[in-house]
Amino acid sequence: MAVDAAVAAPRLTVAELVSRLEAGVREVQDGEGWRAYLAAMSRFHQYSAGNLWLILAQMPTATRVCGFHGWLRLGRHVRKGEHGLKILAPVAGRRSKGEDAEDEAQPVTRFRVVTVFDISQTEGDPLPEHPCQALATASERGSWLYGRLLEVARTQGVQVREGMTGLGRAHGVFIPGANTIGLAPGLSTDQAAKTLCHELAHALLHAHGDQPREEQEAEAEGVAFVVAAWAGLNTSAYSFAYVADWAGRKDGAALVRRLGATIQRTAASIIGRLAPEETSQSA
Ligand SMILES: [Zn+2]
Repeated sequence: MAVDAAVAAPRLTVAELVSRLEAGVREVQDGEGWRAYLAAMSRFHQYSAGNLWLILAQMPTATRVCGFHGWLRLGRHVRKGEHGLKILAPVAGRRSKGEDAEDEAQPVTRFRVVTVFDISQTEGDPLPEHPCQALATASERGSWLYGRLLEVARTQGVQVREGMTGLGRAHGVFIPGANTIGLAPGLSTDQAAKTLCHELAHALLHAHGDQPREEQEAEAEGVAFVVAAWAGLNTSAYSFAYVADWAGRKDGAALVRRLGATIQRTAASIIGRLAPEETSQSA
């Protein structure tokens, strides 16, 4: 893969690595797989808290629900004999005449009961997968980077708690109030190194800010990608899709370009703390 070759090339500068990230995010968003993924995800609603409660009360194991015809459009069908889950769908409309003459022009929200089915009640084509591929490897580089990053976190006064449970699908978290990074249990060495770097970037950049979430995530993952690549660890299979995912339907490459200076500055600062003598040579 061209992307891999480019990242593996020895000693790209921090600025070149940020350009690689920008191009990589663009490649993801231009790809067929990405469009299929977004199209599939757009078929799933963001359910209200009330409806999530209704769904889980009827089926505690439900993960992805969709209407009968929605599943057909995704290439799957509801198995015979499955009982649907009942939720409330808002129906926008206006009050009919005579119902309330005074605010006749006010739109009102009515609800109707609709039936949805969980993915476990359906069969057919697999759904497009989440585009981020977790790093499964345990390389010497990853292990070195992880150890050095722990040291950098310590000197910054940031606590690192390994094996933190309750993070859902996230690999890590930064808790600003406690100045603590939590890492999920069972991460591969390389994934742990990348995640620690991502959360360390949050700790350095976003402890007090109220920047939009997609910007915070693009900055943190951008820094992790650059620092890991500098250390010889290629995280492009994860990082490019991660930034693209947070950008959603917005232009992810433009997002990286806009935040590029912050990514460069923060990555360079972490790299400087990892190996001071190397950076002073190349500066
Ligand atoms: Zn993050």
